[in-house]
Amino acid sequence: MRNLPFLKPSLVTLESYSEYINLIDKNQVYSNFGPLNTLFERRILDRLFDGGGTVCTVGNATLGLILAISAVKRPSGRYAVMPSFTFAATALAAKWCGLEPYFVDIRADDFCMDTTILAGVLDELEDEVGAVVPYAAFGVGLDLTPYRELAESGVPVVIDAAASAGTRVGNSGFGTNFPGLIVFSLHATKAFGIGEGGLVYSGSPPLVDAVRRASNFGFSSDRECVTDGLNAKLSEYGAAIGLATLDVFTDKMEARWRVREMYIDQFKVAGMFDDGWAVQKVDGVVPCQFMTALCPDSGNGAEYVSRLAQANIDARTYFSPACHQQGNFIGAPRTSMAVTENVSRRVVSLPLWEGMTRNEVDRVIAGLVGE
Ligand SMILES: *Cc1c(COP(=O)(O)O)cnc(C)c1O
Repeated sequence: MRNLPFLKPSLVTLESYSEYINLIDKNQVYSNFGPLNTLFERRILDRLFDGGGTVCTVGNATLGLILAISAVKRPSGRYAVMPSFTFAATALAAKWCGLEPYFVDIRADDFCMDTTILAGVLDELEDEVGAVVPYAAFGVGLDLTPYRELAESGVPVVIDAAASAGTRVGNSGFGTNFPGLIVFSLHATKAFGIGEGGLVYSGSPPLVDAVRRASNFGFSSDRECVTDGLNAKLSEYGAAIGLATLDVFTDKMEARWRVREMYIDQFKVAGMFDDGWAVQKVDGVVPCQFMTALCPDSGNGAEYVSRLAQANIDARTYFSPACHQQGNFIGAPRTSMAVTENVSRRVVSLPLWEGMTRNEVDRVIAGLVGE
């Protein structure tokens, strides 16, 4: 049977961005926060953040996380407190900023950091907390209330929201006016894919100004290097693709959300929830990157991935191994990882792309339940 891939990234095509490229040819400005980048940032604020706050583009989200953590971390800090159930980039970014990851367990329903456990860790570590780095798992509209309080009490907060560009919570864009920093990825495999790119957003403009300066060699307005920095700028070509993506993003986001709903319907029809399957609890409307499910507690995700492979279906197990189980982070301090280890053992990341059909979803379900 025909192979079903895990993802089918479908970025905007030449037809839709050629007008923007023509503008670059006309402007003869190719980077350094040129006119297309400025327009892209303005439209991102309007469309994703209801016009509130400030945003700076970056070359990718990993660079964005490094610059964001480095802009806000406490000088006395030793640790970046974060979940282990995240992509390695979160923990790597902390290490590039001279902080050691301190891993905190997650909640069993939305797979985001458990804020009750986090509170205990913060009490214990006191000034050794350099920054708190929650992850909005797989794009969910993570409840930012506790993190808003933390940020307002003076604890630096950087949210890894790599997969959340476009997520809506109630009538608002996810993260709108948040007082800490939020980092989004525009990588080709994310829902708002432009190839390589990222966004650093905050409701507090001075924080984003600091990131923007650091992303351009730490230069002041008269090109004196006044702070640590690097080159993390998005080119005008990246901004052109971003503008064209924004033009069609509502359709892309709805197409992804519909596939998630098809999956949930078919899980019900197949009686999978009664058999111990679960799907990630999702707050808000998310431009899903893929479909995250947990197999029954008696099984493990890898078994289901091989079962799907036999049916010519490509699936994954994000994030297994979790960070604390990977060589580079094995010695890092951590809380109990009971929930993280349960979720990473059971997780199955199922195929999802724009335009995926009900028949294709049915094939995945049949591959899982062995019909
Ligand atoms: C994709 C991803 C990143 C990295 O984003 P890039 O833009 O590829 O650097 C970081 N954190 C998480 C959780 C991700 O999913």
